[in-house]
Parts: sequence; C-alpha cells; structure tokens
Amino acid sequence: MAWSYGLLFDNAAAFLSYMQKNLSATISACHVHHTYIPAHKNFTGSNHRKLQDGMKKAHLSRGFSTIAQHITIFPDGKIMTGRDVDLSPASAVGYNEKNAKHPFMFEMIGNFDRGNDSLEGKQLESAVKITQHFYEKNTKILFHRELLIDGKAPKSCPGTGVDKNGFMSLVKKTRPLPVPEDDLVVKVANHKLYNRPLFYKVPMLKGNDVLALQERLQIHLDHLFGPNTRDAVIEWQQTHDMRATGRVYYEVWDAMFQHISKKDTNRSFHRNLSYITPLLRGVDISRVQKRLNVPTTGYFGEVTDEAVRLWQTNHNEKGRPVDDGKGLPITGVVDKKTWRALFLGE
Ligand SMILES: [Zn+2]
Repeated sequence: MAWSYGLLFDNAAAFLSYMQKNLSATISACHVHHTYIPAHKNFTGSNHRKLQDGMKKAHLSRGFSTIAQHITIFPDGKIMTGRDVDLSPASAVGYNEKNAKHPFMFEMIGNFDRGNDSLEGKQLESAVKITQHFYEKNTKILFHRELLIDGKAPKSCPGTGVDKNGFMSLVKKTRPLPVPEDDLVVKVANHKLYNRPLFYKVPMLKGNDVLALQERLQIHLDHLFGPNTRDAVIEWQQTHDMRATGRVYYEVWDAMFQHISKKDTNRSFHRNLSYITPLLRGVDISRVQKRLNVPTTGYFGEVTDEAVRLWQTNHNEKGRPVDDGKGLPITGVVDKKTWRALFLGE
C-alpha cells in the first residue's frame, strides 16, 4: 500500500505501523508544530478531512507543492496523513532538507499559545507517542520555535503553553501521561509506577495498582477499590495534611510511595514548579498559592504563573519588597531561590 493523503488513523500506533511500510527516506529530525488556525473551536469531532483539505488548499495557494505537513494530529488524538513521508516537508525555511533525508513534520490542530487551547488528553497522547517513536531512534526532536531564522525564533509554535521540557519528560517517560478519568484501563502496576487515578466507582477498579495501594495502607488485599479502600485513603490523606478526597491522583500516590513526609512536602523545596503542559499539581503548589493569595487549586496554571512573576518582580532574594527593579529574576519558575524567598521567615 503506497502512501495516500487523507487517511485517518485512530491513534499513534495505527499510524506508525502504516508509516513503517511506506517510509524509505531517512528521517533526520522530528519537527513539532501547532496549526494556530484552525483551533480547537473549529473541530466538530467529525470534520477531520474538511480541516485537512482547508490547510492543503491554503498551502497550495502559498505555492507549496502540496500540504506542508506529513501528518495532522486532531483534538481527539486521531491522525490524518498529509504529504508523503518520503518527501521533505515545508516545515521551516532552511530546515526542510532534501527528499532522501529530511525531517518528519507534524501539526497539532490547536492554538496552544497561553490562554487559548490546551494540549491534553488523546491529542497529547498521540503527539507524545509519535515523538517517542523518533526519540527512541535517537532522532532530534525540535519545536518549530527552535528552528531559528537569523538567530531568532520565527514564532511561538507549537505555542507558548507547551513547555518543551514538560513535553519531553512525557516523551522520555520520566513523567507519566495523565490518564483521563473516563478512559480508564486496567494496567499492571508496580509499587513505584503510577498508572491512573484510583477512586471508588461501580464497577470497582481492579488491578495490581489497587493491590499496591492496599499494601501501602495495610488494609485487606483484594485488588478492588471499594468503600473500605476509599475510607482508608481518606484517613491517610487526613493524617498527611492532604485534601481528604478518597481519590488517589498522582500527588497522593507520589506522597504515599516516594516517602515524602508531611513535613518535607509542606516545608521543603523538592522540585522546580512552573507552568508547563500538562499542569503540575501537588501540595507544594497549594502552598505557593496560599502564600501568593491566589485560589488554592493545587494546579500550577496561568494564574499562578502570573502571580509568581509579579512576586518575583517585587521581591528580592530575601523576600523583601523592592520597587527599584532589583527583584528576583522574573522566570515564573519557583526554583530553590524563589521558594526560599517566598517562605523565608515562616
Ligand atoms: Zn509551526
């Protein structure tokens, strides 16, 4: 089967197996883009081909031989083929190379500049898995904004809301992909690995991750997240100064298995906090939010980012107010220095 334009694949694995059969060129890099236009609001759930054809038409009108990208990743995680993968893409001026050896280019439908669409769920998963495929072959992963023209970033693409380090930590599997609650699958877990949120529902969640949780809580081991497990989680959360939800999200799992004591989590700096996609969450973030008088959501989002930047502008390393521009570096990142300044004297 030769490469065809406009084929729709349900997920990354399905597309990748098709690509393997049709790729003879050497892939030199993987270029990551967002479309900006069309954005999520233009996606109806079924107009994949219409959006793809619209982009192709726009690219033809700019003098390209066909659509610029090899594939498009839609908000539902589905993937549509574009330009033949054996041809060099129209990714970025000066970086497209020759047909025999060239970058792979994908576009994600959406405007991922801050305050607009968010890259999440199935779309994030497909983007991460496609990127992973190339990363595992030691192929360079490049965001469009890293493809400099005269030393300058051409645009924010794939969006100021998509942090490269955060994205790459998912690609490198140093951070787990967040699993949407309504899309739970039972996977085998080990004590160290967080797979999915755990909570009580009917039918009950079952698995080795539930077993690990029950072992940790020293309750009856039956692999099933029932009311007893929920109550034990609530009790654990209460004694560890966490919100008593009875639900085990990453922060709870992490606290249970990483042996981060209540004291450490509340008092000590243990990681850099910043606005990345997907959002970081944790009790350390709640603590920063309380300090900055922003709503305590436990998620490091845009509001927290802005509050951190403002605070850095107006305070020095000792946490003292300044109005002479001699504040902390305005990074939006709560690193060790900013953390110390925030909580000094508490
Ligand atoms: Zn781009």
